[in-house]
Amino acid sequence: MDVMSAQNPASPPSTEPASGADALAARLDEVLARIDAAAERAGRDPREITVLLATKLRTPEQIAGAITLLRERERTIAVGENRAQEIAKHADPLLAGNGVPRHFIGRLQTNKARDVFAFAELVHSVDRDDIIDALARRAALAEQPRDVLIQVNTSGEESKGGYAPDADVLEAAVRRVSDTGMLRPVGLMTIGANTTDETEVRASLGSLRRLRDELRERGHEDLRELSMGMSGDLEIAVEEGATIVRVGSAIFGARP
Ligand SMILES: *Cc1c(COP(=O)(O)O)cnc(C)c1O
Repeated sequence: MDVMSAQNPASPPSTEPASGADALAARLDEVLARIDAAAERAGRDPREITVLLATKLRTPEQIAGAITLLRERERTIAVGENRAQEIAKHADPLLAGNGVPRHFIGRLQTNKARDVFAFAELVHSVDRDDIIDALARRAALAEQPRDVLIQVNTSGEESKGGYAPDADVLEAAVRRVSDTGMLRPVGLMTIGANTTDETEVRASLGSLRRLRDELRERGHEDLRELSMGMSGDLEIAVEEGATIVRVGSAIFGARP
């Protein structure tokens, strides 16, 4: 649109729905359409891709609303918490007992391992050895095994956690997890390169799949999951094999 027509008062009005609930449904359907189109391009079944709601800074009502919509659309879903201090708030009665798996996707501190272990069915963000050890201690105390993903820093950005994107480094981490006898490594997780350059994003997300495949070839067959793809790069992630996409702002709107 050029400058003149942008200023034209006769331009059609925005079609953005007015009510909060309608806007949530419209954004969510847009996200599902993006997932479906990418899955189709890759020859994948979109229903085998878990849509994880990244819930940081959202209210229990918003989260419950999105869960209802995803259920109606028969998607496989999970809820992902980032912040230990939001765990209790999001365990609101609206969420309790609805059977949606809760995961932890945020930076984990060893002194929060207990809180996180208590609720998270799957921890995505195991990014260093002392986190493996801290979670293993909680699992041993609770006498409950737990699935985890190993976080990989595929972009090399210093602000991001994760093991180096190197098969030997990751194999050592996978072994350390398995050797605890209480934690089971079931896949890899990454946060894609923070850039609009699609080639760079694809290189970072594609490397996670190649690393998982390499580890599987080395006999670590339990590594099934690839947790990757967020609001800005979920199509590329699905094309590159994501089994879990973690979506926040594209569903809930800009973070407050
Ligand atoms: C916030 C967050 C997401 C979702 O980010 P959006 O860009 O809002 O979709 C995904 N993964 C992690 C680890 C996050 O912290």
